[in-house]
Amino acid sequence: MNKHKQTNTLTIVLVSFLAVILVVFAGLFVFNRWEVVIDLHEINEVHAQYGLPYEDPGVEAKYTGSIFKFYKKKADVTIDSSQVNLKKMGEYTVTYTAKYKDKTAKATRKVIVEDTIGPDIQLNSTPDAYTVYNHPYEEEGFQAIDNYDGDVTDKVQSKESNGYVYYTATDSNGNTSTAKRKITYDDRKGPLLSLSGGEEVNAFYGEEYKDEYTAIDDCDGDITSQVTVEGSVDTNTKGDYELKYTVTDAHGNTSTAVRKVHVIDKPAYNDGSMEGPKVIYLTFDDGPYKYTDQLLDILDKYNVKATFFTTSAYPDYAYCIKEEAQRGHTVAVHTATHNYSKLYASTDAYWADFDQQNAVIEQQTGSKSKLFRFPGGSSNTVSRNYCRGVVSQITQQSREKGYVYFDWNVSSGDAGETSSSDVVFNNVTSQVAANSQHGKPSVVLQHDIKDFSVNAVERIIQWGLENGYSFKPLTEYSFTAHHGIAN
Ligand SMILES: [Zn+2]
Repeated sequence: MNKHKQTNTLTIVLVSFLAVILVVFAGLFVFNRWEVVIDLHEINEVHAQYGLPYEDPGVEAKYTGSIFKFYKKKADVTIDSSQVNLKKMGEYTVTYTAKYKDKTAKATRKVIVEDTIGPDIQLNSTPDAYTVYNHPYEEEGFQAIDNYDGDVTDKVQSKESNGYVYYTATDSNGNTSTAKRKITYDDRKGPLLSLSGGEEVNAFYGEEYKDEYTAIDDCDGDITSQVTVEGSVDTNTKGDYELKYTVTDAHGNTSTAVRKVHVIDKPAYNDGSMEGPKVIYLTFDDGPYKYTDQLLDILDKYNVKATFFTTSAYPDYAYCIKEEAQRGHTVAVHTATHNYSKLYASTDAYWADFDQQNAVIEQQTGSKSKLFRFPGGSSNTVSRNYCRGVVSQITQQSREKGYVYFDWNVSSGDAGETSSSDVVFNNVTSQVAANSQHGKPSVVLQHDIKDFSVNAVERIIQWGLENGYSFKPLTEYSFTAHHGIAN
């Protein structure tokens, strides 16, 4: 072989090789397609919640070659979710259209509109609110809104357990949600110190003075035994004494009270001169009833103590008698039955009815009352129809038994002549003012079974306080306002 021949062979091989490469490339160019490709990130199905906005999980598109994949350009995608009805459960299609120059591509995703979430429970909380230890939690409020049912607040159930309140609500598709709140416990209130007889009382020279009071704590209950009393009363020396009461609950809240005790000669009978003209005794007959709780709150608001001549006409409200005593009011006997024909039939019948009511009082307060008021007052004449002279005999016997009866010298008119709070207010205040002018204290007759009469009490108290009166509960030594016996 010569050198020339060798060169020719090499040239032929090279040219052939280049030709093959050229053919291959030409082939690739012929078979490569330029196209737009949509990438759904392998998410072909989406679950959307009924009623909530549809959120597309995203999509990308590129312009590229079917063979020359190294060439990429981002393509714009439009999402068409107009078919999806979020207010109707079912299956829908979302369509994606991608464009690059004259090339387009389409892809779809399945969207399932369903309801698999429960109501959204929102808990209200009042700043600084707390629950007293050992007391049930008082609800601060909540709302529950469901994506399917709307407002389902009335379907929320709550349960208190171990310092938490647990809430659950289930929507009509059976989805349940829960929420919980931690209860904040505290005790910031001192015990309620109640002085029986009030903050200013008379004690009688040479007689024993019984100092009675209670301390009820919202947390610890009855802690009367823990009250310390500073000072003492010497009933063998006439004069003014001061007693100071202090009691502290288990969480360190202290309450104090002061009482003035005047040791005076025991009067033959009290004609009102002991009190003077600026004292009002509010008295309420015929309860307790459904307005008594409200009345007690009004009296508490002004720290006014009153007197309740109680009955058993509404036994469901007997618990109010205990409340009356615990809040420092005087509880007295009116009648168990208020049945004139029965209780005025004889003295025995009267005392049977009386004892029945005093047993209820003892059950509620721990002690019997010495104070009472005749049904109809001591001057009633209706008792003549049933037994001549019965009131005179009862009066005599009541002294022997150690009981004191009370009438009134202010009539509110709430027993029949009016049903207006304004008239009650005018009757009471005008008669109190008249008594005062004549140097007398006032014993006011109202009925806590009459809502309009109870509704007048706050204004009466405000009027009294503005005009320099003080309100007191009756004691066995108070002004009796006797009418005079007519049978
Ligand atoms: Zn009555």
